[in-house]
Amino acid sequence: MRTPIVAGNWKMNKTVAESVEFVRQIKTALPPATQLETALAGQPIALTAMLEAAQGSPLKIAAENCYYQTSGPYTGETSPTALYAAGIHHVILGHSERRQLFHEDDQLINRKIKAAIAAGICPIVCCDETMGRLITSQRVEWVVARILDDLKGLTAQQAEQVTIAYEPTWAIGSGESADPSQAEEGCYLIRQTLGHMFNETVARQTRILYGGSITPDNIKQMMAKPDIDGVLVGGASLDPRTFLELVNFND
Ligand code: 13P
Repeated sequence: MRTPIVAGNWKMNKTVAESVEFVRQIKTALPPATQLETALAGQPIALTAMLEAAQGSPLKIAAENCYYQTSGPYTGETSPTALYAAGIHHVILGHSERRQLFHEDDQLINRKIKAAIAAGICPIVCCDETMGRLITSQRVEWVVARILDDLKGLTAQQAEQVTIAYEPTWAIGSGESADPSQAEEGCYLIRQTLGHMFNETVARQTRILYGGSITPDNIKQMMAKPDIDGVLVGGASLDPRTFLELVNFND
């Protein structure tokens, strides 16, 4: 059984004080994590204060990025080990903004995913649905290329720590969401790919989220799709009342 999740990605928004105030405003109104998981990803400077503000509530606090080394001369980067030690157990990796604006490629993202898992952090790996071929000794399969590249070399046990977010680039911040059947198709293809790369258990257990212009108006239809286990929300997660509307999509 895959627990559904509503996760906000604040990107480079909100001061520390604003982040803390937001968490205080929503924390008592959240459902238990067994019913629906809730998470917010903020800037590194705000994470400790957000964790403190979220104490005693089911809200999970996530990082938006990390590096693939645990420590050393990497000015400006954040160590996954330091994140874990602070109490952060989720990190968004491979967001299309990181790929486009900061030139992160699949090889770098693959290293970051492995380092995050080694540090005890569950990566939320963002990808589009660019197709590629998986050639094995017995067969050739059409699969989602990014998943092949980003999760390359992971064991099935490591892959079980990963959550995937299907985010078509054109839908991010555009106000133009994929329609629910398009979103379902992308998530379904990703699940198939996980089955080919690892095994049926990984495919069945991995949570796959949709991200791109989610609002309180379209979340319910998305969540009703069989392969969509949650949403990763940018713009609509920035306002506490709207975030709670998203969380209560079933009401
Ligand atoms: P929007 O919800 O603003 O389209 O952003 C989606 C996103 O990038 C989530 O990671």
